[in-house]
Amino acid sequence: MVQNDLLLKHLSSVYDPELGVNIVDLGMVKDINHVDDKVTVKLALTIASCPMRNQIEAEIKRKLELIENISAVNIETVEMNQAERTAVMEKARQRARENAEPTQIDPKTRVLAIGSGKGGVGKSTLSTNIAVGLSNNGHKVGLLDADIWGFSIPRLLGIKGRIKANDNKQMLPFEHNNLKVISTGLITEDEDTALMWRGLMLSKALEQFLKNVEWGQLDYLIIDLPPGTGDIQMALSRLLPQAELIVVTTPQLMAQKVATRVADMAKRSFIPLLGVIENMSYFETNDGKTYNLFGEGGGSTLANQFAIPLLSSIPISEDTNNEADVGNPLILQDKDSPTKRELLKLINTIEEKLPPIQDETCTGRLAKVFEELSK
Ligand code: ADP
Repeated sequence: MVQNDLLLKHLSSVYDPELGVNIVDLGMVKDINHVDDKVTVKLALTIASCPMRNQIEAEIKRKLELIENISAVNIETVEMNQAERTAVMEKARQRARENAEPTQIDPKTRVLAIGSGKGGVGKSTLSTNIAVGLSNNGHKVGLLDADIWGFSIPRLLGIKGRIKANDNKQMLPFEHNNLKVISTGLITEDEDTALMWRGLMLSKALEQFLKNVEWGQLDYLIIDLPPGTGDIQMALSRLLPQAELIVVTTPQLMAQKVATRVADMAKRSFIPLLGVIENMSYFETNDGKTYNLFGEGGGSTLANQFAIPLLSSIPISEDTNNEADVGNPLILQDKDSPTKRELLKLINTIEEKLPPIQDETCTGRLAKVFEELSK
């Protein structure tokens, strides 16, 4: 028999994509009815025609169906009354007031922060391939290398230049094949200069990159976080309330344990956790045989623990010349490979499940309703 507590725990990991608060805290879950393996959730929406409705419903189904012994999820929607709506909006405003500081990132930009518990799991490689893949598909994409002193994005993209400033002394991102890139590696001349900057701007670097860079209109901002759980992660949640986290892990249990720490921190700093990518999951031979060289299960264990999806399992690439490390991201390489195929699939998953935020939002509509009512 599944307990209501467990159902509520899973429902608490469903976030209203626009308000950035989970649906339980928002008071949207009115009732949970549970008979055998069937669950019925009564969901209160701010307005019945909420454009986010399908997304929220799909998310509820996905989260509850992860629970063992639950095979059917039914959702009944009702519309909130005026008092409930006001309470929801107050909660959302409160959150925005607490966290937001003005940045150059449009509130409609979908911000995907890529984190990991430790270095060397492929976080920068994946950030780069995700940014390049989304940009290749026609989205306006920014790539922010928030790994301030361990930067690797310029090398991974093969960028040699330096960023410039505009007349208002704002930094201009480096434009590389339609992708806008910011990295400490594009400011400092060499490692000695980098060291000089170290004390000066370590704590302020992310803030500078968000507030003092002319990003322009972006559909996606991909942020390559430094490994672990430090100041940058905390600053991110303060500066960009719309940021969401994807955790990269490898199949080994140890790596998975460190990633758990990042995931925990995301919860404490209120960065919604979107999903897990397991990297270096397996090696696939030319005849399609697969070998789990680094063990198995790290990604799915982590995903289950937080009731979030395992977005992708990326195989080990046979990039024997290490081309990907010096400017030729796997997703752009001519040669077809299992790794390239999975990366392309991951891009489709992101476009489908995490699309750029639409103009038409529930709050937008709600504002119109209030405007009409007050006339
Ligand atoms: P992190 O940012 O987590 O420190 P990197 O992206 O720098 O990790 O990757 C570490 C090393 O692993 C790099 O040499 C990179 O090319 C390699 N790598 C990453 N992902 C894969 C993969 N799927 N297959 C093979 N090598 C990979």
